[in-house]
Amino acid sequence: MIYEVKDLTFSYPAGDRKVLDGASLSLDRGEVLCILGPNGAGKTTLLNCMAGLLKPDSGSISLCGQPLAEMKEKEIAKLVGYVPQLHTPSFDYRVIDFVLMGRAPRTGTFGRPTAEDEELCMSVLESMGLEHLAEKSYLNISGGERQQLLIARAIVQEPEVVLFDEPTAHLDFGNQHRVLKRVRKMAEDGFSVIITTHNPDHALLLGDKAAIVSRDGSITQGRCEEIVTEENLEKVYGIDLKLMYVEELGRKACLVPEL
Ligand code: ADP
Repeated sequence: MIYEVKDLTFSYPAGDRKVLDGASLSLDRGEVLCILGPNGAGKTTLLNCMAGLLKPDSGSISLCGQPLAEMKEKEIAKLVGYVPQLHTPSFDYRVIDFVLMGRAPRTGTFGRPTAEDEELCMSVLESMGLEHLAEKSYLNISGGERQQLLIARAIVQEPEVVLFDEPTAHLDFGNQHRVLKRVRKMAEDGFSVIITTHNPDHALLLGDKAAIVSRDGSITQGRCEEIVTEENLEKVYGIDLKLMYVEELGRKACLVPEL
């Protein structure tokens, strides 16, 4: 088992409610878990707790069989890669240096990346078709390229599990699907993956496990087909929608009947 999250509660010091309340989920090796939920439900908060960036008020998180609360930052970073929401960085980096940061949990006492680290980063960039960006400034590339580089940085970290916080949020249609394809490929390569998204079709496309974080702070988790249902989605988003089977695709798609 990669993650076992049990009965988590979390409130922000400045907040007036429990954002997470009795939240539980689990993730096995090689699984993809797609997390849906309305804006403000607590998806980012949950990922931050699971990455050890926020401390839950109660409940437990076990990561690869160890209690997360007892693990050091560097131990967590060896196991967990975090792809945060796309943002404009405040510092300028060469792209290759940005990707090399992913090696930080694995560099020795003096913390300097080696020639092997650089070779690994270049080979990951090549495998993603991004090697032409290596010498560019991280500030002077597109949002889609930046999102792909956040993923490259997580891959070179060589973690067990990668947490993606809405990696498709600011991307055009083509780039959204390139990111999803990358997520699928990472699972095939043996990474376990958790991804949050606002698009039910992403859960249907990834098709593994799904979870819904509700406004009451609880989580419902199961196989994608059990969780991504018309009834559940209508509750999450508060609109009428249809899950239609598309014969040419051999899968269901989520559609809104009218405006
Ligand atoms: P989601 O990712 O599902 O959109 P978040 O986890 O970002 O939701 O936020 C959950 C709730 O916690 C929201 O009501 C949000 O306003 C609140 N919240 C998020 N960050 C903070 C913070 N730093 N301080 C106080 N409240 C916060």
